[in-house]
Amino acid sequence: MSEWDYRSLWERALSEIKKSNTDEMWISYIHYENSQEGLINLAVPSAFYKNQIEKKYKSILESKIHEISGENLKINININENLDYSDENTEVKPEENPVEFADARKNITETYNTNLNKNYTFERFVQSEANSFAYNASYAISKNPGKEYNPLLIYGGVGLGKTHLMEAIGNEISRERNDLKILYITAEQFTNEFLYSLSDHKTREFKNKYRNVDVLLIDDIHFFSGKKQVQEELFYTFEALYSTNHQIVFTCDRTLDQVKDLNDRLRSRFGRGLQVDLQPPVFETRCSILMKKAEEKKVSFSQEVIEFVARNIATNVRDLEAALTKIIAYKELVNKEITVEIAQNLLKDSIGNRKTNDLSVELIIKIVADYFNISHVDIKGKKRNTNISFARQISMYLIREMTNYSTTEIGIEFGGKDHSTVMYSCRQIEEKLKCDPTMDSTIQTLKTRIKNQSSAR
Ligand code: ADP
Ligand code: MG
Repeated sequence: MSEWDYRSLWERALSEIKKSNTDEMWISYIHYENSQEGLINLAVPSAFYKNQIEKKYKSILESKIHEISGENLKINININENLDYSDENTEVKPEENPVEFADARKNITETYNTNLNKNYTFERFVQSEANSFAYNASYAISKNPGKEYNPLLIYGGVGLGKTHLMEAIGNEISRERNDLKILYITAEQFTNEFLYSLSDHKTREFKNKYRNVDVLLIDDIHFFSGKKQVQEELFYTFEALYSTNHQIVFTCDRTLDQVKDLNDRLRSRFGRGLQVDLQPPVFETRCSILMKKAEEKKVSFSQEVIEFVARNIATNVRDLEAALTKIIAYKELVNKEITVEIAQNLLKDSIGNRKTNDLSVELIIKIVADYFNISHVDIKGKKRNTNISFARQISMYLIREMTNYSTTEIGIEFGGKDHSTVMYSCRQIEEKLKCDPTMDSTIQTLKTRIKNQSSAR
């Protein structure tokens, strides 16, 4: 043993630091090399780790050594590329013949592809109350990547615009800053690429690629659930980018708490910045989205058709788009103006039954028919006798009052009557209500029956 062997002192200092430091994986990259007078030589696998560790730990380590030994020893951190890249717990092993990070960085720049879909821009994203927080946060990030709100997590159900918003961030940054490297990838692609790099001895390239971008966008991180090894890798990627103030954006189809089998360290990192959610669009927003999408495709539909689709497809934007695509195709192929009837027919499979909490039109008609002791078929039919006409008008009025059917849709329910006929009928009843108290009590009785029966079902 030479006079200046500080190995055991170093080991003791290291183990004490590990005890009090949760970020110990950084420390585990440090290898002891040798000692000189007043100096401990350590080694790490690359310049990247050297920078990180010097910034974060050098002074902590030196003061710990002083605390233990009373000596003012210096630490020197060298780069040794032959070192193992990862700690013993990590299953990922480095490639045998590593490339310099700088070279690798150049490589990526040359073959660089952002993977962004150019159509997903902020301009094409319809804002509403359900998404304004997410929209504004995303927009702010695109103007100032890596500076605030890092990482950003966008979460929400399927088809609500997570991918669109995330790519809009990427597109906006790439429009204004061509010096920045932006990379969009789905969690699934990231995982596949990682596994491929393992089997192909290309882990070093994989690491270089992801740890050297300026903006990393990872879509659908719920996919990482239960995938231990790739989570580990992602953790290091995260640390590398986060600690150097590079922007990271994630999306997830549920809240972080609901993602099962996610490494705790990763979960805490994901949640460190800002989390914003996307909610399903309300009726008015659905109309705006349909109009905007139709306009983008240079087609137009009547307000009634737009409202019909928006009213009936309330799940998410992807379903709205699918419905629109279908009616646009019909319009173009059949070269016919789309009416509510045509739309209804085209979309009958996706519309199915209305939401269960919606009052059924059939129920209303049946109750009115029973009340007036006439047949349900007659109310919906074309007979013009006074009693039947009156019952029909009342039915229309009640449907208009108690459901969110438009006058056009009500017309369809009554054998294809025009919406102006429905409006006329409703007005007749409204006029009678103003001056005829028995009319009022009839309507009240019917409403009560309808409500009772619909809640009993
Ligand atoms: P998610 O990733 O949440 O499943 P996407 O971002 O893939 O949803 O959105 C599905 C489709 O709906 C995309 O074509 C997208 O452009 C569109 N979309 C979603 N939200 C909006 C919105 N607010 N304005 C315009 N289009 C939207
Ligand atoms: Mg998506």
